[in-house]
Parts: sequence; structure tokens; C-alpha cells
Amino acid sequence: MSVKEKLLARSGSVCELCGSPEELSVYEVTPSDGSAEQSILICGICKEALENPENRDINHWRCLGDSMWSPIPVVQVIAYRTLKSIAQEEWSQDLLDMLYLEEDVKAWADAESQSGDDGRAPTLDSNGSPLQSGDTVTIIKDLEVKGAGFTAKRGTAVRNIALTDNPEQIEGRVNGVRIVLLSKYLKKA
Ligand SMILES: [Zn+2]
Repeated sequence: MSVKEKLLARSGSVCELCGSPEELSVYEVTPSDGSAEQSILICGICKEALENPENRDINHWRCLGDSMWSPIPVVQVIAYRTLKSIAQEEWSQDLLDMLYLEEDVKAWADAESQSGDDGRAPTLDSNGSPLQSGDTVTIIKDLEVKGAGFTAKRGTAVRNIALTDNPEQIEGRVNGVRIVLLSKYLKKA
């Protein structure tokens, strides 16, 4: 049986993240040996969202509120990583707070972020400490927020930051507004 056949049988021929039966394909979870245990079956929409996170419709990931309860470890890993990547959304953080992973599954889920996602440069704070999505940081200098009409004050804590494709920038919520901040003006809390 091919990996795809195994996954079709495991999932009942639907996307293991959102349940859609459309455009199903195999997605390998890194680090992966290519086996069915380390792959999931996903639909076209989930594939697009995983591969092009900057274009994704974040609300599509509300489906993870169901799929994160899957008994299949690899599905839990993807749900956890994906929720973490959008932890600036309150509902995503709420789901993460509820999600319980066995220790070995948690270690696997965290393995990727620690090695630096897909080999890109790490995002570092003003002290050179690596930042991860979901971290809390403190702003170390008054920053004028262009377009938002306020100053992000020195000492402001920003919870649940999200990394961006640019290692010099992160996204976070200040005064209820989601803004881009330069990592060199932040300190990991
Ligand atoms: Zn899907």
C-alpha cells in the first residue's frame, strides 16, 4: 500500500485537518521519514495555507479546534504548530491552552521551530536571543506606529507575537491593533 492509500484509509478519504474531501494530497511533516505515521492527508485549501502562510485565511484554521483532538500524533503535531504560528489570534491561543500533547508528541511538535523553520535566519531580539511565535516581548524604545496614530511605549509587553518571513520583523498586538515591530527594539520577556 502506498503512503497515500494508507492515509486515505486512516482518514476515511477526507482532509485530516478540516474534513474536506477536495484535492487531497500527502503532506509530510518535518522532520519526516516519509512514512504514513509522519504524513497527513490534506485538502487543497489546507495545503495552500500551509505552504503559503502569508496568503492564508487565518479563519480557515478554526477547523483545528476539532482536528487537534485527533488521536493521531502527526495530526496533533500539525495542529499545534499551525495554531502556534497564529497564536496572536485570541481563539488560537485559547485552543492552544486547551490542547494537551503527550510528552514525546510535544517534543516532536517543538522540534521544527527550534531548528529554525525551513532553514531561514532566526529572529533575534535586542540581546540576540531567538524569538519564537507565541513569545511575549517587551518594547525597549518608544516606537511611533505609522498609520495607526499612536506610539508604542517603551516597556509595553506584547503577548503572543508571530514571526514573519522577515527575520527583522515580528507581528504583535499593541493597543488592540496588530502591528509589525522591529525585533531589534524588543526584548524577550
Ligand atoms: Zn483541509
